[in-house]
Order: sequence, then structure tokens, then C-alpha cells
Amino acid sequence: MSKWIRAHTVVCYITLLGSLLGTAIGFWLGHVMLLHAAKSNLSTYAQEVMRNADDIADEINSVFAQYPHILAPCSNQDLAIMQVQTFRSRRVKDIGRTHDGKLYCSAFLGRLPQPFEEGTPSLVLMGGAKVYTNVRVALAAAGDGRGTVVEAGDVDVLLNSTSFGNWERPHVNYMVEATNRETRQMTQIAGSTLPVGLQTVLSGRSQNIRGSMYRSVCSNTHPVCVVTTELVADVWRSTRPTQIGCSAMGGFAGLSLGLVIALFLRRTRSLSRQLLIAVRSNSPSLSVLYQPILDVRTGQCLGAEALLRWTDQTGASIPPDLFISMAEETGFIHEITSFVILRATRDLGELLRMREDFTLSINIAASDMGDERLFDLLRVNVTLAGIHPSQIALELTERSTADLGLVRAAIQSLRAKGYKVHIDDFGIGFSSLSYIDQLNVNAIKIDRAFSRTIGTDAMIAPILGQMLEMANSLGVDVVVEGVETVTQRDYLAGKGTPLQAQGWYFSRPLSVDALRLYIAQTTPPKLLN
Ligand code: C2E
Ligand code: CA
Ligand code: CA
Repeated sequence: MSKWIRAHTVVCYITLLGSLLGTAIGFWLGHVMLLHAAKSNLSTYAQEVMRNADDIADEINSVFAQYPHILAPCSNQDLAIMQVQTFRSRRVKDIGRTHDGKLYCSAFLGRLPQPFEEGTPSLVLMGGAKVYTNVRVALAAAGDGRGTVVEAGDVDVLLNSTSFGNWERPHVNYMVEATNRETRQMTQIAGSTLPVGLQTVLSGRSQNIRGSMYRSVCSNTHPVCVVTTELVADVWRSTRPTQIGCSAMGGFAGLSLGLVIALFLRRTRSLSRQLLIAVRSNSPSLSVLYQPILDVRTGQCLGAEALLRWTDQTGASIPPDLFISMAEETGFIHEITSFVILRATRDLGELLRMREDFTLSINIAASDMGDERLFDLLRVNVTLAGIHPSQIALELTERSTADLGLVRAAIQSLRAKGYKVHIDDFGIGFSSLSYIDQLNVNAIKIDRAFSRTIGTDAMIAPILGQMLEMANSLGVDVVVEGVETVTQRDYLAGKGTPLQAQGWYFSRPLSVDALRLYIAQTTPPKLLN
């Protein structure tokens, strides 16, 4: 299979995976959202029905409250008042007079020739009022043949099914129950009969039972509860278009993300290929800059660190942190290190021959540490350039390996060959104070995370002082990195011990020509005898 096809297959796979994942996430999110929306609708509906039921109960109560008990029951005046109240009320269909479980007269029927036996109430409420449901009695002539009667004292109030108005909604059912929490009984006064027990009715919350969602709400003022319900299957049926929309949106988002990731991976792959080609062809897109390292007290330039720069095909400058780690991951960092060794010993050969106290620092990656071919190359180039190995400082960092044994062995081997060894980015990797006495290094390069704290009250601010003291007591040289301000320089210069520093306060990394000029300017003229 050609590389082109392989690269495109990877892009296709990642994009497909992204869209599948996106669809699944979109579906799931849609599912959760719609379920939440359905629950909330059910709850709103239950509260609406409850408000209506409360209004009805208020109306019944007001009938009982207004009823003048001083009148002789079933007298003409009594009947007249009952009729006025019945006509005034939208929901009360009839009002009657009872005694000892018998109805004697009503607004609608007048005086009954024979008293009517009311039978057993469906529920006795906590205050003693009685509820008769599904009543098919003379009173029902006022409605459709069946109704609910509430009786308090000697007064009956009839509500029929139309009293409850039009509360129906598509897919959703409701049930209104009168309850007695003491006797733990209830009776249905409106709506459809739902297969739920007293516990669910009184619960006042949402629950899913056997494929249906239920929501119960109980009145704060009356012994009435409402339960609403919807089949979960109906929720999905009615919201299918939304569900499909969510899945499609998720799929599209996943597809886009997958595409971005795939293209990013491809770009990274192609970037590391570009870099490898640039290194192998000694391309001008690669250059080495040198950042001066100075004696912080005298300001004399004692050395320079080689720092690689690279611009890709589009001319964009790629940050070294990025392309170095890319080369480390792809496995050709040793080619980068070789490139820098060749370029730097050639660039600075003359300077190093002229000034034996001048040190060239070269960064060594973790995987370079045990690479003998690399050190052969270094030896050959150092010899060819006519410089002394002690003028080369190899900067070791241990960001990618925790193997202290490996670091220690590499240090021993390099020191034996006459090179200086500096621990780079000191303080942030393995290179903590507790290890430094075990490592036979010439210097530590304190990371700029610590120089940044000079003059601030950062938590780690005191650590820099401790590092300097410790290094001093162990006889290890110190280079402080990232010195950017005069405050930082003055602090270091005031320490009283010889210290080296590197940073923008002194100089940015320079081309070889600019470095020569810089050295000429910062080296004090030799005194004539
Ligand atoms: P490093 O070895 O710690 O190099 C010092 C970095 O700090 C350089 O960044 C330098 O430009 C920057 N720097 C110097 N003075 C200051 C300052 O005052 N303030 C701030 N904020 N930064 C300062 P650069 O060149 O971007 O390099 C980043 C890292 O890339 C280096 O960190 C090193 O780990 C790696 N690197 C660069 N060139 C090479 C190389 O040739 N080989 C290897 N293996 N790694 C390299
Ligand atoms: Ca370094
Ligand atoms: Ca460093």
C-alpha cells in the first residue's frame, strides 16, 4: 500500500471514529436532555392540574362557609339560596341538604318525595367531611349521570366530570385524588385511574415505574394530590426528530473534531518528516544561535549555549520545545544533536581556540546519553577544531527519564572524556537538591522558574537561595537561567559568590557574528604591563 493511501486511510479511520463517537455522545446527550424536558413538562402539568383542583376545593369550601345554617333546611328560602349559589358557581352543579346519611332536597331537584339514602362514603377526610365518588343518584340529574359529592355537616355539594374542565393533553394522563394521611386512604375524584398506590400519590416527586414516568404533587392547602404520567415510549416517539437532530449534530461535531485531529496528526507527521529532511540535507532552514553566559558580577562573557532554530516550508518558525520533542518521539534526536555539534564546533572553533576560558554549551537529549556514536562524533569534531574537551559543556536534562542510574553513568563517561557536564533545568526534573551531591557535575543550570521568583513573595522564592548555598557548599558552579530584569541581576550579583547567568537581560540568543561582537563589547580590555 502506498504511503499516500496509508495516510488517507488513517485520516478516514480517525474521522469515522470521531463521527461515530460524536453520534453516540449526541444521542446520549439528546436522550438525557429530552428525558429531563419530559420530566419537567410532566411536573408543570401536575402543578397546573393541582392549581385547578385547589380552585375547585376553594370554591367548595366557600359554599360550605357561606351557607346560612340558621335557615330551616329545605324551606323555600333555603332552596332559593342554594339555587342562587349553584347558578353563581361554575363548577358546583348542585347543592343539597342532608341529615343522617339521607338527602332531603337540592337546589336542582327541590324537595324529594322520598329521602335518598347516600350509602357509604368513599372517603372520610381528616376534618370529618365525606367524599362520595362515582355517584349515580338523583343529584346527578344536574350532570352526565356520575359525579363526586362532598358533604360537610348537613350540606352536600355535587361536582360532575365537566367541573374539572378540559385538562387533557396528548400522551399525558392525570389523576386527582382526595387523601386522608391519617387513615392512609384515598379516593379518585377526577382524571384517569392510574395504577399507582398511596405511597406514590403522596410522594410529591418524579419516578419511573414499569415503563411510565410519574409525577405527584400534593396541595399545601387541601387534602388533594395530583399524579401525572406519560409512557416513556411515547416520550421517545414524540421527540424522535429532536433525538435524530441531536445525534446528527453530535455526529457532525465528532466528524469535525476527528478531521481536525487527523489533520493535526498528519501535519505533525509531515512536520517531523520535513525536519528530518532538513537535518539530513543541512538545510538553511536550520540555524544555530548562541546565547551568552556571563559572570554576573563582572559581566564578562564566559561562554554561550547553542540553541537550534528551525523554520518550516511555509517559513513559519517552529518553537524548539516542539520540534525537539517531536524529534525525540520520532527517534531521530541524535541526528539533531549531531547537527548542532557539527555546526557549533565549526561556528565557534576559532573563538574557542583563541579563548581557552570560553565554554560552548550543547544540549543533550535523554536518549543521547548512552549514544557512543554521538560522542565519537563529538571527539572527532573537537579534535579537528583544535579545541579542548573541557571547553565543551554538555547540558543534560532529565525530563523524559527517571533513571538516575543512567544519568549517573552518562555523567561519569563524559567527565572521563574531559567534557564538562551541566545539569539543565535544575530544580524541575529529577535534579533536586537531594540528588545533586550524588552527581559528579561541574555546574547546575537553575531553571528560570526560580529566577522569576526573585523579588516576589512566591511560595518557591526561598528555594533559589537554598540552591545557591547548597551548590556553593558542594563546590558546584551555578548558571542561573532566564535572568530578565535588573532586580534579578542585582540580587545574584549581591550574593557574594561567583555566579554565572544567562537571560534576556544580558542578551537574547545571537547569530555567530553577533556573538563575536557581543563578546568584544563585554570583555574588559587587557591591561598593558
Ligand atoms: P533550554 O535548554 O532551557 O534553553 C533555554 C531556553 O530559554 C531557550 O529557549 C532560550 O531562548 C530561552 N531563554 C533564554 N533566556 C531567557 C529569558 O531571559 N527569558 C525567557 N523567557 N526565556 C529565555 P529556546 O531556544 O526556545 O529553547 C527551548 C528548549 O528547547 C531549550 O531549553 C532546550 O530544552 C530545547 N533546545 C533548544 N535547542 C536545542 C538543541 O540544539 N538540542 C536539544 N536537545 N534541545 C534544544
Ligand atoms: Ca539548555
Ligand atoms: Ca534550561
